[in-house]
Amino acid sequence: MDTIKLAARVTNIRVSPSTAAAQKVRELEAEGRQILNLTVGEPDFDTPGSIKDAAIEALVAGDTKYTPVNGTLELRKAIRHDFKTRLGINCSLDQISVGGGAKQVLFVALMATVEEGDEVIIPAPYWVSYPDMVIANGGTPVIVDCGEDVGFKLTPEALEAAITPHTRWVILNSPSNPTGVAYQAEELRRLGEVLLRHPHVMVMCDEIYDRIWYADFDACSILGVMPELANQALVVNGVSKSYAMTGWRIGYGVGPRKLIDAINKLQSQMSSCPSSISQAAAANALTGDQTSVAETVGIYRERRDRAHWLINQIPGLSCRLPDGAFYLFPSCAGIIGTTTPNGKRIETDLDFVLYLLEEAGVAGVHGGAYGLEPYFRISTATSMDVIERASAQIARAVGALS
Ligand code: PLP
Repeated sequence: MDTIKLAARVTNIRVSPSTAAAQKVRELEAEGRQILNLTVGEPDFDTPGSIKDAAIEALVAGDTKYTPVNGTLELRKAIRHDFKTRLGINCSLDQISVGGGAKQVLFVALMATVEEGDEVIIPAPYWVSYPDMVIANGGTPVIVDCGEDVGFKLTPEALEAAITPHTRWVILNSPSNPTGVAYQAEELRRLGEVLLRHPHVMVMCDEIYDRIWYADFDACSILGVMPELANQALVVNGVSKSYAMTGWRIGYGVGPRKLIDAINKLQSQMSSCPSSISQAAAANALTGDQTSVAETVGIYRERRDRAHWLINQIPGLSCRLPDGAFYLFPSCAGIIGTTTPNGKRIETDLDFVLYLLEEAGVAGVHGGAYGLEPYFRISTATSMDVIERASAQIARAVGALS
């Protein structure tokens, strides 16, 4: 008899759909199928050698003990410098909290502020984890549809309309996973003006992809654009994506002292601190030579351009050019209503993604997982060869639909 009773905070949430899609790929591969995997949410590059060397040095020097709860002084100084020079954000060292990945910082920030009945505004399409993070902390996600007609971005009018006395946060992700769309300074300013009129609402800015940038306007942060929001904004970033350091688990948040103190208090009871060695590596990443970032972004850009062109050649699919990150989010509206060679009607983007997996051996994630249909996400954190072959196989499979 199963006697383990799980808490509602667990039973009410899902396993991340992109993790589930990656698991399905592993299962098919284990059966001997060759799958071109476009579900991947992490760089396909290795961590640069200089960063690894910094970690080895820290290890050899005996840097193997607990660090301060909010992160080492060295890393927080590096973060403060990065925020100031790149984004024009001024903050003190005690306004920074370092955690075990941006994901953990986002989660703990919600844990520190959200209670039963509180609402968190999430523009859709969204990163799959946001709604579940809110639910796990007892809050209610308020999904605001931000379709292609508004460039997949939250408008000031839509934000204003979604705010209630129960709203605690709005979550912005720029550049976005899954669309790659980024907010321009003026757009952030207009959203910021709405927030200033509602001081009970805070903005959580997830900028984890802001160095993987292709747009011809500069990366910007709402806090750099509107310093007046200092008491209402938490800016979250980390080293996972830009420096190919997903396994090192270092992310950080910059925000008002009261919120950062609360995050630190929770962290002190959860993990005590992030890994000492990973923090030394992250400090090196932020302060060291940035050539590797420029090189990898150059490669991601070539892949983005090629994948964007190839996908747009396929009848029934259409895709916007992303400003950043390493994903494409094509519409498959032109495919809905078609019939597969086996006589199955494609009714949803999930049907289409499953058809691609079965017939083309190409794995993507359906748009419904990100709160917007009919779309699908493909990752370009894979070789050009895989992108070419996957696109050709998608084109063939689409060509077989009637
Ligand atoms: N935020 C977004 C939008 C992401 O796509 C991801 C990873 O997929 C994360 C945060 C997690 O970053 P980290 O590895 O720093 O926890």
